[in-house]
Amino acid sequence: MTMVVNNYREIEKRVAAACERAGRNRSEVTIVAVSKTKPDEMVEELAAAGVRDFGENKPQELMRKHDGILTDEGEPLRWHMIGNLQTNKVKMVVGKACLIHSVPSLHTAEAVSKEAVKKGVVVPVLIEINIAEEETKHGADAAETENLVRTIAALPNLSVKGLMAIAPPVEDPEENRGYFKSLRRMRDRLRAENIGNAPMTELSMGMTGDFEVAVEEGATIVRVGTAIFGARDYSV
Ligand SMILES: *Cc1c(COP(=O)(O)O)cnc(C)c1O
Repeated sequence: MTMVVNNYREIEKRVAAACERAGRNRSEVTIVAVSKTKPDEMVEELAAAGVRDFGENKPQELMRKHDGILTDEGEPLRWHMIGNLQTNKVKMVVGKACLIHSVPSLHTAEAVSKEAVKKGVVVPVLIEINIAEEETKHGADAAETENLVRTIAALPNLSVKGLMAIAPPVEDPEENRGYFKSLRRMRDRLRAENIGNAPMTELSMGMTGDFEVAVEEGATIVRVGTAIFGARDYSV
């Protein structure tokens, strides 16, 4: 088994254990392997082992890996767009990303909707919330979430599947439990509203440092990079 496949199996075990602790079914949680900056060969090794869900934060890299890496059946993998999305790059991911996690504003949503109409596709999106209200982070304010979800869900050719957040980097993952709880409560409230085109079933939260706590608090998607692929080198 290669290193990345071995690492992935380890993450699977930890997700399964977190599900068990929380009394959840393992099938409720999708692991997105965040392959940003990492070579195609590593993705191919995981794909050969049956892994299908991958995440990228740059439109060009998502597009390139989507088109360039195919399964044995000749199908593309499932590519999740998890990074800041400039409106002039929306056309690169619409039709290629299986889910856009990072829609922080009406402005971005309008650009995605327009491109989706043009291509005749319905695009699944998550609304990104700046859960810890950090100055440096993208994402909508929690207070405006309901209005934003209603407005975005009313745009053509979008399906608002849920919420996403990037919790602050912390030493102890327990420090983020409160943020995960509040995102989940927010999602639950919105789901109960039964807004058209906004099923609100998904909760994308948890990364290498805190995914187990996120699963315990209801994450349906965890985005794990470093623990699978190793540390990233941005200098090259
Ligand atoms: C890079 C990235 C991740 C993965 O982070 P790790 O700490 O390496 O697991 C998850 N989510 C987003 C939005 C990212 O940009």
